[in-house]
Amino acid sequence: MTTATLPAASELPAAAPQASNSLDPYLDHLLQRLTAAESTNVGYPRATDIDYTPLAPFLRLMLNNTGDPRVDPIYPLHTMDVERRVLAWTAELFRAEPGWTGYLATGSTEGTLHNLRLARSALVDAVVYHSHAAHYSAGKAARILGLPAVAVNATAHGEMDYADLRAKAAKSRSRAAIVVATIGTTMTEAIDSVPDIHRSLDSAGVARRWIHADAALAGAPAALTGRHDFDLAPGGADSVTVSGHKWWGTPVPCAVTLAGRLPLKTGRLISYIGNHDTTIAGSRSGLAAVLLWHAISTIPMPEQRRRVQQARDTAAYACRQLTSIGWPNWRNPDAVTVMLRPLPEPLAKRWPLPVEQDQSHLICMPGITTNHVDRLVADLQGAHR
Ligand SMILES: *Cc1c(COP(=O)(O)O)cnc(C)c1O
Repeated sequence: MTTATLPAASELPAAAPQASNSLDPYLDHLLQRLTAAESTNVGYPRATDIDYTPLAPFLRLMLNNTGDPRVDPIYPLHTMDVERRVLAWTAELFRAEPGWTGYLATGSTEGTLHNLRLARSALVDAVVYHSHAAHYSAGKAARILGLPAVAVNATAHGEMDYADLRAKAAKSRSRAAIVVATIGTTMTEAIDSVPDIHRSLDSAGVARRWIHADAALAGAPAALTGRHDFDLAPGGADSVTVSGHKWWGTPVPCAVTLAGRLPLKTGRLISYIGNHDTTIAGSRSGLAAVLLWHAISTIPMPEQRRRVQQARDTAAYACRQLTSIGWPNWRNPDAVTVMLRPLPEPLAKRWPLPVEQDQSHLICMPGITTNHVDRLVADLQGAHR
């Protein structure tokens, strides 16, 4: 890991006088580097099959959705109506019951923080439980909120160890439990079972509970293809968060966060904005709502499901091709994430894949094709020889 130092002001290129539609040479160069990098980005999840460029005219406007999305703020350049459509679509996907609330956050990290805050205000004296394979944002949210956090073991494939949850929760059975269930762990895309979490808490004697489903990546493909045990219907989770920049690849990070209950009243009314303060962020991106609505509205449901199947097929293809050259690999059921032995040094530069505990992965997001897989496998075969 290298740490870049910030350039001194004197080292920065002087802003070139420019025509209105031309880029500064520095940014132009940057754009070329980023565009080139995209062709080998298979390590981090971002769908690349959706064209957002028709939305360029919206860049002329400063779109700001301040406050609660249920209310139109005074500032007229908001897209709260679009945000409400995005929320309603997602609430239906996650089978939320009437009375749900939510908003479009900056990402799943903020979504988890928001929901743990809701849980804290609903439950006195709570302990947060998350597995060792959970995203680092779960522990971070607990620290920010001053909540004690207990890390539960995970299996070799990354799923929560429910017996360990039961044992650890039983030690604090008089306290409430806030459990972060990961729907698609960051490294192996394992899905924690919310029904098993309920059963573990039942047998630990913990009645007061809130289960938050951190479904940043895999929540969308799972729900789109009929896996619903983590959603907001009875017996499922109390809150759920799904990122927009992962499964739908919005060029601006964002996440839909939804909760099935309404413990935080309406939040303080801020007369300056003419709205209630129910979100973590103040100013929120109105552009993100437009981008996400574009992804949802231009892809009809059957096509949404076909995207999932195609990504899974590509992942299965990657496993077969890696196996055919003798490179160790595996994947969780239905995952688009393929676990593999880390790439040798020279290749790791061209294909920047994360490595954790001697395992690496590639993620076959929509837009990643068998052609990407073939190029990677050919490179690997060349280096291997
Ligand atoms: C990516 C990810 C996050 C973080 O989401 P951001 O939207 O980047 O904040 C949280 N949890 C899981 C499981 C993730 O994969």
